[in-house]
Order: sequence, then structure tokens, then C-alpha cells
Amino acid sequence: ATHLVWLRNDLRIHDNYALHAACRDADATVVALFIATPGQWKAHTMSPKQAAFIYQNLLDVQRSLAEKGIPLHVLHGDDFSASVNVLKDFCQQHQVDRLFYNYQYEVNERDRDAVAERELFDMAIVSQGFDDSLLLPPGSVLTGNREMYKVFTPFSRAFVKRLHEGLPECVPSPEPRRGAPLKKLPEIKPFAYPLEEFDQQLFAVGERAALQQLRQFSQQPVTKYAEYRDIPAVDGTSRLSVYLATGVLSPRQCLHRLLKEHPGGLEEGKVFVWLNELIWREFYRHLLVAWPKLCRHQPFISWTDSVKWQQNRQQLQAWQQGNTGYPIVDAAMRQLNTLGWMHNRLRMIVASFLVKDLLIDWREGERYFMSQLIDGDLAANNGGWQWAASSGNDAAPYFRIFNPTTQGERFDKEGEFIRKWLPELKAVPDKFIHQPHHWAEKNGVSLDYPPPVVDHKEARKRTLAAFEAARE
Ligand code: FAD
Repeated sequence: ATHLVWLRNDLRIHDNYALHAACRDADATVVALFIATPGQWKAHTMSPKQAAFIYQNLLDVQRSLAEKGIPLHVLHGDDFSASVNVLKDFCQQHQVDRLFYNYQYEVNERDRDAVAERELFDMAIVSQGFDDSLLLPPGSVLTGNREMYKVFTPFSRAFVKRLHEGLPECVPSPEPRRGAPLKKLPEIKPFAYPLEEFDQQLFAVGERAALQQLRQFSQQPVTKYAEYRDIPAVDGTSRLSVYLATGVLSPRQCLHRLLKEHPGGLEEGKVFVWLNELIWREFYRHLLVAWPKLCRHQPFISWTDSVKWQQNRQQLQAWQQGNTGYPIVDAAMRQLNTLGWMHNRLRMIVASFLVKDLLIDWREGERYFMSQLIDGDLAANNGGWQWAASSGNDAAPYFRIFNPTTQGERFDKEGEFIRKWLPELKAVPDKFIHQPHHWAEKNGVSLDYPPPVVDHKEARKRTLAAFEAARE
């Protein structure tokens, strides 16, 4: 029999449920396939850095699979619908009997899979899907009324209770198969999609690097996470998001590694603070399945769709390019534009700034983030944006509006992060780093830095009025 593993967002050989299941029958021939879909990626505004990261990781997975005697083919369709035809042709050519794949939970992805399963079934090919990218499958953590939670804290509590009852298992990488290792690898052509170089020190390619980083973070740094996680000048978070978003790492590997180093990690405490972030990741994915409208650019709280957003290209561009005149916002946006990654506290600050200070539709921000982020992930990104826009589940109420200056003062007190990304403010003393124009005026210095695009106090009033009008 021939078993096909269709890789998508699961670019790893360890703890990969679909791959593991495909290899269970030692006599079966196992082949793997990845289908690039540049047209679909464009529609989803996938960032060229993420595309490059996926490409590099495919080369790595191909080598690892070849060691096990499994060839990985990389083919090209344009969009998801074309990819189903590519899949069918491949199955025919290789006389595939069974398909194994891991679920994706976004609506376009689910529609594609439904079509693929149906059409393969007509070709007498049986498909089997797996809940692999989550600790617990969507729909398995519900309220007493058997509904999905709308608020995070009780979800997290119920989630941990489930983990206490039993942990999801990790599965090993496959045993080498007959003919392993393969000597000749199928060619992987570059994607017909813009690829942009990324910092390979920060985002080292491959499963081995990801596991190494997880191991390192789970030892000491995780115990300091609660203390440093909000300080962008400190390297206090795991930086594992890109691996989790592309499936180079599984959340089960994270959980087991954490509990190995800190057996009490499921109990409230310092280490749990980090685990709780992984549970946020689960929360947003479970929400997508319960409310597919979240994938369709719709707010969770419907009335927020009546907010009259500003159409202001110039201000949107100032935000995108890091020229708003608010140092913490601009430093953060330049970090995003350069690295394809932004610190979580800063994601919250810049998202709040776009929506609540500039009164620009959160979907503009969501789209721009996707176009830049190496760790872009629909569920987490949409969740984060709807949180900031007060339109989502468990959102900050609309009248809670971050003050970008005091946020900067709280989380980057001496301006260490700001100076790193805005060298033009190097000479500004610590005391004035969050309001450099005050200092420049006082001292008759001219700064090569734009004045604030809006006055925060005025902007706040305008936003409150716009939300109140929409609610009525
Ligand atoms: P750590 O703090 O070490 O957290 C560990 C892991 O938990 C992360 O790698 C991530 O997988 C998960 N996680 C942490 N925080 C969150 C969260 N709030 N929601 C969901 N999962 C979380 N994360 C993405 O992975 N992709 C995105 O596209 C994305 N967009 C965001 C947009 C906005 C507006 C906001 C406010 C947050 C967004 N996040 C996104 C969540 C978070 O900012 C990043 O996951 C985090 O900064 C990644 O750094 P880290 O790996 O060092 O995280």
C-alpha cells in the first residue's frame, strides 16, 4: 500500500500525528507532499519572510525525511482549489491508497480539505485527518452548557483541569523505512512568491534549532518570564512563535519539555504564566472553529462594525512606516518591518494606537501585520487585533484606551528599546525620550523625527464618541 502524508502547517518529523500514523504499517510505502499555493498566500497577505522561512524549513524536513527513507515532493498549485487538483494528480501518479494530514482550522483551509477528501474518496482513496496543532482539539473544552467559552480565564481554568486529567501524548519520529536513507531527493523549486531574507540567528531554520531553543528557554529563562515578559528591551520571551505558527514545533513538545524541567508547571506560579500563553494560542484557535465568521473579517461583537472609521492613508502609512511621532509606537513598527517579529507588549500598544488613536479600521492593521510577520497566524493575529479594537471575545472594553506615552514610560522607562530602533533619538535624555519634541523645543534643537500625528487627548475623545455613536 502507498500512504501519502500531505504536509501543510506541520513542517516537522517529531511528534507529527499524520506522519506517525502513515508510518504505522511497516510494509507501506510512505511518500510526503507539500503544495505551494502562491495565489492563496497572496490573498491571505502572507509575509515574504514567512514564505522564505517555510521554504528553508521544507529543505530541512526533506533532508530529515530522506534519512527515514521518505521522499518529500514539493509541487506548485496557485490557490487552494488548484492544490486539490495537484493532490489528485499526485495520488494517481503514485498510486496512493491512503491520505494522512493534520487539520488546519481556518475556513478556506477547511473548505479545501472537505473538497479534497470528497474527491479522493471518489478515487477510492481514504483520508484521515488529525488534530495535531493544538494541545486539545477544538470543541473539547466547553462550558457546563456544552458551549465554547467566550472569555479566556474560565477557558484556561477548564483547560488546565483537562490537562490534569491526562496530557496529550507526543509521538516519536518514524523509524527508518526500507531503502533508507534516500540518496536522491526530489528537486524543490523556489516558490513563485516574493521571498525576503530573515535573520537566521533569531529564527534559526529547522526542527533541531527549534527544539534546542525550547530546551534552553524551558530551563532558566521561563522562570523569569513573568518578570521580564513585558519589557521589550529584554530578551525575556521564548521567541518560539514562528516555529509554532509553521508547525516546526508542536505545542505538545512545549508542554512536555516544560513539565520535564518544572514538574509543577500546571499549578499557578511563575512557570504557569508562560503555559497560559500557550493556552491563549489554543483559545483563539478554538474560537475560529466555534465562530467561523472570525475568519471572514467580521468582528465578534457586531455593533463595533458600525464605528465610523477614518479613511486616512497618510496616517496609516505613518503608522506602517514608524513615523507617528510617538517613539514607542515607531520603534515597535520598525522592529516589525525589520525583523518580521514584534514583542507582544508592543503589538498591543501599536494595535491600540492604530485603532484608538488614529481611529483606523482594525482590519487594516491585521492585514499589515500579516504582510510583515514571520510568525503570522490568522487565529492569534485576529484575536490580538480584535482584542485591541474591543470588538472581540474577552476584549478590552472600548473605553479602555492605552496612552502611548505612559505605556512607553512604563515598559521602556529609560528608552533603551526606543534608542535601539530610533537612532535619531540617541541624544535625547532619558527623561524626555517619550516626548522628544518637548526637549527639542526647550533646548532649541531640531530633531530629525516627525511631530506626533495626533494629539492623544483629542484622539481619545474622538474615539470614545465614535464607539458610543456606534453602540446606540
Ligand atoms: P511567548 O511570550 O514566549 O509565548 C509563547 C507562545 O505562546 C508564543 O510563541 C505563541 O505561540 C503563544 N502566544 C503568546 N501570546 C499569545 C497571544 N496573545 N495569543 C496567541 N498566542 C500567544 N502571535 C502569533 O503567533 N502570530 C501572530 O500573527 C500574532 N499576532 C498578534 C497580533 C496582535 C495585535 C497581538 C496583540 C498579539 C499577536 N500575537 C501573535 C501574540 C503574541 O504577540 C506573539 O505570539 C508573541 O509575541 C510571540 O513571541 P514569543 O514566541 O516570544 O512569545
